[in-house]
Amino acid sequence: MPAETARHPQIPGARIIDGRAVAAGLRARLAEAIAAAPFAPRLDVILVGADPASAVYVKAKEKAAREAGMVSQIHRLPAETGQAELLALIARLNADATVDGILVQLPLPAQIDQVAVIEAIDPAKDVDGFTLTNVGRLAAGLPGLVPCTPRGCMVLLRETLGDLRGKRAVVVGRSAIVGRPMAQLLVQADCTVAIAHSRSADPAGECRTADIVVAAAGRAGLVTADWIGPGAAVIDVGINRLADGRLVGDVAFEKVAAIAGAITPVPGGVGPMTIACLLENTLEAARRRRGLPLAAAAE
Ligand code: NDP
Repeated sequence: MPAETARHPQIPGARIIDGRAVAAGLRARLAEAIAAAPFAPRLDVILVGADPASAVYVKAKEKAAREAGMVSQIHRLPAETGQAELLALIARLNADATVDGILVQLPLPAQIDQVAVIEAIDPAKDVDGFTLTNVGRLAAGLPGLVPCTPRGCMVLLRETLGDLRGKRAVVVGRSAIVGRPMAQLLVQADCTVAIAHSRSADPAGECRTADIVVAAAGRAGLVTADWIGPGAAVIDVGINRLADGRLVGDVAFEKVAAIAGAITPVPGGVGPMTIACLLENTLEAARRRRGLPLAAAAE
């Protein structure tokens, strides 16, 4: 069993995948690689408006980047910012040779065309991996910048299962930022992959025969024990706030943990990996832009 996992005290069957520990290890390796590099990568984050959740995410990204030894700059724009103004800022950051990574915090206010804004980012600096160039490179199996959350899920799966070749994986959810890239990465890792979504005839049946289930539907408790085969690895991407204020995933944790071989908790599973992989993407972008080998910085 890898050092970062532990069995749940009350549930003998479940191996709890400790995303916080895995993320801390990755961040420490990235910090070492940055300390040894002749440059400090720079991450610029753009926040439009005052959405409280977005403000918290942006602050966390800036803090994590600084702790890893990167230069980090937040650009805070008022909610009424026009599209032209935002595009002008992105153009400036694209042209600035000192900037390695550009991230536009989503969602954007209604007056702004989100696709046009993402598309304006130089794909070489697109550390969220959302530009169509990076989406296409992932779909084609070419190197590029990969969305952070699916990338983090892959790190957790490799930590937990080792070689993923030949495993049967089901991804629940087909969004552009989680479900689809997740499925692409699993295919690249030689898994046999199905995607379940809200129109699937029998998502539970699809999942029941899988070695790996990645839940990314944004529906609290959707994945119940009868969805999961004995010993399967379950990665819960969902973040759902209940009426009583509790934060839960898409997986009914206790019941599924009694059957699964391994499971991520919420919080403390996938969430911390997303920021760690944003830092990894930023270092990767910085190296590529300087023509340096990726040097398996955090492998
Ligand atoms: P979206 O709402 O964009 O996509 C949800 C997907 O789930 C859709 O493809 C939808 O199907 C599918 N779905 C919804 N209901 C069901 C159902 N009953 N059965 C099967 N499939 C269903 O969400 P995101 O992909 O952006 O995010 C998913 C979750 O992950 C959210 O809870 C979000 O907060 C969380 N998240 C967590 C991150 C982290 O760092 N841990 C980062 C990003 C997201 P259809 O396409 O048919 O509508």
